[in-house]
Amino acid sequence: MPYRGRFAPSPSGHLHFGSLVAATASYLSARQAGGDWLLRIEDLDPPRTVPGSAEQIVTTLEALGFEWNGSILYQSTRVEAYQAALTRLLDLGLVYPCSCSRSELLSAQGASKPGGTLRYPGFCRHGPRQRFPVEPMAIRLRVEPIPIPVEDQIQGIRIFDVAGKVGDFVIRRRDRLYAYQLAVTVDDAAQGITHVVRGIDLWDSTPRQMILQ
Ligand code: GLU
Repeated sequence: MPYRGRFAPSPSGHLHFGSLVAATASYLSARQAGGDWLLRIEDLDPPRTVPGSAEQIVTTLEALGFEWNGSILYQSTRVEAYQAALTRLLDLGLVYPCSCSRSELLSAQGASKPGGTLRYPGFCRHGPRQRFPVEPMAIRLRVEPIPIPVEDQIQGIRIFDVAGKVGDFVIRRRDRLYAYQLAVTVDDAAQGITHVVRGIDLWDSTPRQMILQ
């Protein structure tokens, strides 16, 4: 299968050094393999999008000599595709609405883990826990307790326990915005991406995206 890589920055500020490393590494990997390199702007989260930042990222990449194949894909134009994926998951019974607030989950855990991922304890798995839930509710994917092996050229093979460490994760937020995990999975598939080169901070997102695939 011909190599298709991508760079998918979120326009939440300038193209910072870490993003530039991801851009360079993904670009060189794709070109070395004689493959395509696509640019996708992940402007899915209006509260976190900094006005002008997408344009700035594109201009900086151009100035540095990066050349992408095809036109830039903006996630803000892809809402119908995310809705279609969600509908499919709903039809398959793989997702459910969740009424839990973050503070409820924090207090259920007894302590907050700043910056860390909270494991969702599954309170709403069999129906919303709140008797009169506030609409709209977040939507979570049911994660089965199956080990997920991820193979990475630098990290090697690691077996992730998503069910044990993360639990059922959110794919559409309470504010009706599609979660990064769903959008990135739908778009990587739609764009025929064969290889993902990204920052290590996203290493534990990869198994979640593999489950969604
Ligand atoms: N847009 C996200 C970021 O900039 C994710 C990119 C990716 O999935 O590789 O952190």
